[in-house]
Amino acid sequence: MTNWNDITEKVHAGERLSYDEGVWLFAQPDVIRIGKLAQTVRRRQHGNKVYFNKNRHINPTNLCAYHCNFCSFARFKPDSPGAYTHMPEEIPDMVRPAVEAGVREFHIVGGLHPELGFDYYVDILKILKREFPHIHLKAFTAVEIDFFRELTGMSHHEVLSTLIDAGLDSMPGGGAEIFHWDVRKKICPEKANQEVWMAVHDTAHRLGLKTNATMLYGHIEQYEHRVHHLVALREQQDKSGGFQTFIPLAFHPEENNLGRRLNREWTTGIDDLKTLAISRLMLDNIPHIKAYWVMLTPELAQVALSFGANDMDGTIIEEKIYHDAGARTSQEMTVSALKKWIRAAGYQPVERDTVYNELEVFDAPTEYQPVMR
Ligand code: SF4
Repeated sequence: MTNWNDITEKVHAGERLSYDEGVWLFAQPDVIRIGKLAQTVRRRQHGNKVYFNKNRHINPTNLCAYHCNFCSFARFKPDSPGAYTHMPEEIPDMVRPAVEAGVREFHIVGGLHPELGFDYYVDILKILKREFPHIHLKAFTAVEIDFFRELTGMSHHEVLSTLIDAGLDSMPGGGAEIFHWDVRKKICPEKANQEVWMAVHDTAHRLGLKTNATMLYGHIEQYEHRVHHLVALREQQDKSGGFQTFIPLAFHPEENNLGRRLNREWTTGIDDLKTLAISRLMLDNIPHIKAYWVMLTPELAQVALSFGANDMDGTIIEEKIYHDAGARTSQEMTVSALKKWIRAAGYQPVERDTVYNELEVFDAPTEYQPVMR
């Protein structure tokens, strides 16, 4: 019979929690106790450090051939209101101010354009790498990579090798949503399924790329589906070892079909904290857990740093995907604001690059820091 004493002993001994223990933890109302356990792991791994980076998001197009019913970002016809496509040669001028302000990473994800070929995506990387050779290109989810496979008839290995030649440095973790088919078939049946998503990351890891992983929670899934998702990622990490960071993503219900069906129900702060903390406890082989401030709000992301999270993402500069779904947070954050949020929560800010080399370790908080308004 699962109980607190056994789980606490296992966490302190650094032993792996089981699927049943993960489901049991989700069912417990004592979120503070779950958070304290997660914090034991987080402090063992990262001490008092909280990482952030200087990044800029680029979403090249919102036209998409798929129809995920939680998505507020996609448009399906070029003349739909709000539809856009940035051609590769336009993008450097769009992002130059951010480069001049010191960003070190472009995070590039977008729609699966129904008409443009693979060259469109390859050219985006080539042009950005040519213009800004020092900027790390973290680009294209496993779903996009699998879409390129369909477009070209190439293997995942060939697609990824072509993108690496064009400048790809690492991959983001999107498109994972919820792996369990009972849920996936209802929210995104056209997307790469669990096996394919894992196969893409497996190939990327074997080609030497670091990647991230996500989970979209707070819609129609049950706790069992969340834990199934976490265990699947843990098993893949045992095999290929290239996941750096796990990012739980709360479903946002504005401007999408799923949100309308669910009466625009948002996740609660308690569910957000519990999901972050249990992710830290279950994913014993993925080093970093991210509190994505755009999704959580900076206020809750600060609290999440005491519930197992050790990364706050970065400056971002132009976030579209969550804002199309109703996010009320800012679209960017300055470095001084990030440092202040982290210090005011009692942690030491560390600027990292995409693959977690420490670029600057800032002073630890020595006194009470008022929250920035
Ligand atoms: S989530 Fe991605 S693949 Fe799905 S409709 Fe939106 S943009 Fe397209």
